[in-house]
Amino acid sequence: MSRKVSTTTAITPDLTDAERVRILAKSALFNPPPAQLPDGRRDLVGLTREELAVELAVIGEKPFRAKQLWHWIYHQGATEFSKMSSIARPLQERLAERFVVGRPSIATEQTSKDETRKWLFRFRDGQEAETVYIPDRREDRGAVCISSQVGCTLSCRFCHTGTQRLVRNLGAAEIVGQFMAARDAYDEWPSPRGDVPRLLSTIVLMGMGEPLYNYENVARAMRIAMDGEGIGLSRRRITLSTSGVVPMMDRCGAELGVNLAVSLHAVRDDLRDEIVPLNRKYPIAELIAACRRYPGASNARRITFEYIMLRGVNDSEADARELVRLIAGIPAKVNLIPFNPWPGSDYRPSGRDALERFAAIVQDAGFASPIRMPRGQDILAACGQLRTESRRTRPAA
Ligand code: SAH
Ligand code: SF4
Repeated sequence: MSRKVSTTTAITPDLTDAERVRILAKSALFNPPPAQLPDGRRDLVGLTREELAVELAVIGEKPFRAKQLWHWIYHQGATEFSKMSSIARPLQERLAERFVVGRPSIATEQTSKDETRKWLFRFRDGQEAETVYIPDRREDRGAVCISSQVGCTLSCRFCHTGTQRLVRNLGAAEIVGQFMAARDAYDEWPSPRGDVPRLLSTIVLMGMGEPLYNYENVARAMRIAMDGEGIGLSRRRITLSTSGVVPMMDRCGAELGVNLAVSLHAVRDDLRDEIVPLNRKYPIAELIAACRRYPGASNARRITFEYIMLRGVNDSEADARELVRLIAGIPAKVNLIPFNPWPGSDYRPSGRDALERFAAIVQDAGFASPIRMPRGQDILAACGQLRTESRRTRPAA
């Protein structure tokens, strides 16, 4: 507990504010191209409700049209104005002259033996990112793992995406569009009302990229996904995974309140500096303090700590004991992720024994510690393997 007091006071609000401004300004440099087709038509996906109303006002339409369109786009999943039957034909035609309801196009689609499905989506400028649907084995539902960037600025040593430079941020339309295109593929429109189970019932921001380095676009996309008159996912059904961009964690908690997953992976700064280089900027104590501050953390809404098990690197019993000491008092669970090797990676996965010993220590301390079974390995869809094949790798740091 004394740790909490000392670290939160160490980050003064002014410094954090300045840091946030710096992060957002840098992020804007990687923004996507405007959501416009070469013929001048604008994509309506990704606009806020207010922006949609403005677009319609420009062509002389009343605000209720925005509500109608929102329903067609995000509740019914319609992509053609001609299918929007509550809108009169002449207006449908006028809309089609100026606007589109876009989707990323499918560059490739693969389905694994275990029914995990992976898409490589291509966006209007030709950039690509991967999305994975992971069915829940026990229930008729599952998670859509979404990418937030093409590539990543960070270079975690164990991560395949980390070998790729950041090409650019994905826009809001491209982020929510991955989920919408996945719903198209499973024919899951219209959106369910209430708690009707659906296959695609959860979003995890755990694909390519660091979502908190693309906060504005991610926030916009998640607000659209959470809007009750559209896709209508509750914030409890969205999990954002971060490698620890501390200043943006506060903002994410205050503004979006989605579930948080933190890619911890190491419990000592010397080791975390090496495998998650962002740790040099936001070390473990600051990261854990930000987790303690994260709003809404409770037993029903636990923070997930992700911990990738690397043989002989971070998988000892001493590491496990230090982990439970660090997170003591945080409503949390610890996802133990068997390392997925990729060609050229430096590490090996931990053995079954090490995994189980580690899990037992974490469990004895009162934290659930599921060992995440790799899914979709035969189609390279498992965690950390997402990477656009065609890109040049960066030289080793
Ligand atoms: N950038 C964010 C979210 C995307 S990373 C973050 O780091 O949290 C996606 C997830 O894949 C992270 O939990 C990461 O730890 C995990 N991962 C990366 N490489 C992996 C690998 N080779 N094997 C298993 N999991 C990996
Ligand atoms: Fe980026 Fe996350 Fe991969 Fe690290 S683990 S390189 S933050 S995508």
